Amino acid sequence: MNRSERVDPNSGLTIENYSISMIIDSGRHTYRGTEEIRFRPASDKLVLDSVDLSIADAYLDGKAVKPTDARESQTVVFSCTPGKDSVLKINFSGAIPRLLTGFYLARYGNADVFTTQFESNGARRAFPCVDHPFYKATFDLSLDIDKDLDAISNMPVKSVVENGGRKTVVFGRTPRMSTYLLYIGAGKFDFRSVMHGSTEIILAAPHGGLTRSDFPVEIAGRVLELYGEYFGIPYMLPKLHLISVPEFGAGAMENWGAITFREIYLSIDDSTGSSNYKSIAEVIAHELAHQWFGDLVTMEWWNDLWLNESFATFMSYKIIDVIKPEWDATGDLINLRTEGALKNDALKNSHPIDATVRDPEEIAQIFDEISYGKGASILRMIEGYAGKDNFRNGIRKYLKDHEYGNAKGSDLWESIEKASGMPVSRIMEAWIRRKGYPVILASRDGDAVKLRQEQFLLDGSSTNETWPVPLTIVRENGTESVLMEDREMKIPAAGFIKLNSDFTGFYRTVYDSGLFASVSESRNSLSGHDLWGLANDLYAALQSGRIPYGDYMGGIMSIWDATDPLVLQEINSQMNSLYLLKPHSKSVREAAMKFASMHLERLGEKHPGEEINISIARGRPLIDPVSG
Ligand SMILES: [Zn+2]
Repeated sequence: MNRSERVDPNSGLTIENYSISMIIDSGRHTYRGTEEIRFRPASDKLVLDSVDLSIADAYLDGKAVKPTDARESQTVVFSCTPGKDSVLKINFSGAIPRLLTGFYLARYGNADVFTTQFESNGARRAFPCVDHPFYKATFDLSLDIDKDLDAISNMPVKSVVENGGRKTVVFGRTPRMSTYLLYIGAGKFDFRSVMHGSTEIILAAPHGGLTRSDFPVEIAGRVLELYGEYFGIPYMLPKLHLISVPEFGAGAMENWGAITFREIYLSIDDSTGSSNYKSIAEVIAHELAHQWFGDLVTMEWWNDLWLNESFATFMSYKIIDVIKPEWDATGDLINLRTEGALKNDALKNSHPIDATVRDPEEIAQIFDEISYGKGASILRMIEGYAGKDNFRNGIRKYLKDHEYGNAKGSDLWESIEKASGMPVSRIMEAWIRRKGYPVILASRDGDAVKLRQEQFLLDGSSTNETWPVPLTIVRENGTESVLMEDREMKIPAAGFIKLNSDFTGFYRTVYDSGLFASVSESRNSLSGHDLWGLANDLYAALQSGRIPYGDYMGGIMSIWDATDPLVLQEINSQMNSLYLLKPHSKSVREAAMKFASMHLERLGEKHPGEEINISIARGRPLIDPVSG
């Protein structure tokens, strides 16, 4: 749904600045606030969102005014003059409840931490505002707090004035940004900071909770630098806080320049396992991607939240791949996100990514693993099809064109379309508006290969639906991109051919036995992601009844001498599932046991300094080859 299709009472409004001062009573867990909103209305009303706040008095251009309440006291409405630059001053007060949203109280041991979580509609619980991502403004914030507390916000501290047992902390003005990205924090914090280029990266945690490890700041520094290069725009703010927040509802939150994390994502000690390092790095890289995609350029409305999240996820794996190639982060993306989405989107009760959002309150019900996992996967599919350079150039142009403003998904598709000369908009619109995805049936037809697409459903049924499928075709001499628009097509292929290069595409492939044999014969020249895809597609084909058990097992056995940990993990989990499903089948048991003993042998003895993914594979359950 477009923003214009919603009833927006503030349509045409521009807000220049919010100037907010808060006096925090840390004993009572309350605060008094004063704000000045500089704005120009298009109509005779300014409708502010305001929840659980009491407004003492208000002044429009210096004259006392009375607001009217509307919508069950969720908004306050002020009369104003259309087209006139105006200043509205409001004195208000609020509580700091233990809520996990808005400006709230978190406890760390016996200490109080005052912190915020504004996405998606928490800002209206902290101060009256137009709490809508489209209405960007600059923010000036000052906090009056006990002298022994520290304060954190998006921008660096500009000045501190002490007065008896209190102090007033004034922060620098933010760039234009959405209300949901503002951060306000106060409490007793420990800090450790490093300079990375011209950016100060600061780890912050409630007093006593700071991790000894520099891993989070090191990852953050490297990621910031690489994103700056990739996006063609260096990180925009002078500093970046990574804040560990006790009692935090989300995993992490991308407040511009002041990212909050659940404690587990910033605490590292001797007991931190290999896979935790990966997830910590991925979460940090995800939030940092938002500093550009989300914070600098923001969705116009919450219907594009899936894109905001999918893009950050896609980028995080991509960038960790550069920093730690031995981790195979893209393998995690495929194995965790893509596979999950392929599974759920193969059910009849799946849903399209595209959704109508009337109220940000509904977001959690609307977007799920299909929206985010499929979203990240189809971004990867478009990158694979359009080419990495074209894709990046499209992203760069999109960010530059819309910086400090808002954009829609369609703006991004158009930008990549222009950069690549490929019909990206048409493809993306089809993939986000339709539920499900296709299976490509490939069969040899003389000197050609015949391709046919059908919807892939786990129950083995199908529909008449077709997709514009951005195919990648691997041949002996390279990879080409072809758009499959119809139900059937023929491609010339006298020699070796494999579809879905590196499993970049969000579709399944089922080969006839001759084609599969030629693909598996070339397995040593295929990537781990290719082999993972072959194995995963085989299992899906078996589950949906598209191939018989014998073909499945023959196919798996022809590639199970792979050495890539991702592939071995996939086959291992298939063997486990089959064995649980059919514990009395002699053939299943023998195959599972044979694979398990081969797998154990390949893993060998645990040794110091071994590859992280080998350690992770070692930790996975295995059919016990002895007891069977
Ligand atoms: Zn995110």
